[in-house]
Amino acid sequence: MNNQMKEPIHHKTTVSRQQMITTLRRYGIDDEDLLATLREVPRHRFVPENIIHQAYADKALPIREEQTVSQPLIVALMTQAMRLCGSERILEIGTGSGYQAAILSRLCAAVYTVERHPALSQQACSIFEELGYRNIRTKVADGTLGWGGYAPYDGIVVTAGSPKIPDPLVEQLKVGGRMVIPVGDEFAQELTVAEKTDSGVVTQKIGGCRFVKLIGQEAWPE
Ligand code: SAH
Repeated sequence: MNNQMKEPIHHKTTVSRQQMITTLRRYGIDDEDLLATLREVPRHRFVPENIIHQAYADKALPIREEQTVSQPLIVALMTQAMRLCGSERILEIGTGSGYQAAILSRLCAAVYTVERHPALSQQACSIFEELGYRNIRTKVADGTLGWGGYAPYDGIVVTAGSPKIPDPLVEQLKVGGRMVIPVGDEFAQELTVAEKTDSGVVTQKIGGCRFVKLIGQEAWPE
């Protein structure tokens, strides 16, 4: 019995989970653990009821508070860039729907995720509970300041577009740790991988993207 049969989807999706995986493979995602996780985590639980039929299409979808759940390809690229081995403690900035945090949580030891909109954070938190994803902690705050209480982190994933890499996030990253963050203006950003070394931060650009704005003290003003 496959997952879809165990957990019936009452609204038929136009693109199946398997088709989503086939598309991601075509775009070069080849990490089998990641692909299995993307197949298994029910994205339809993280999207609004009225567009549930599009849950497995490879596109960003609108959620509440004028925010979006990222396109599966972008979620896959960001997660793959983290090179997780399973023991990491990861900080995510921008919980949104909770989908990216859910994917990360299946591939590492613990996820700490910060969201500025209380309603989004609460909704994501209750989905994590329903799905039994117990290694995710949520917090409502300005994520550009990080989450000092659990720092330092093995990795940081920022899922909103920023004009620069916020200093507090670099401070809360372990030496040897990696951060993935979209850096650019409000219309287009470069997905940037920043590695913290003994002698500073080494960055690498891995592709263009378009995220909603990272709004906070160390990024865009309100
Ligand atoms: N990871 C999310 C993507 C959501 S879109 C998902 O998988 O669905 C980006 C989110 O970042 C939005 O919900 C937005 O409210 C949030 N955000 C923007 N600036 C923020 C900040 N300074 N701190 C925390 N969250 C922020």
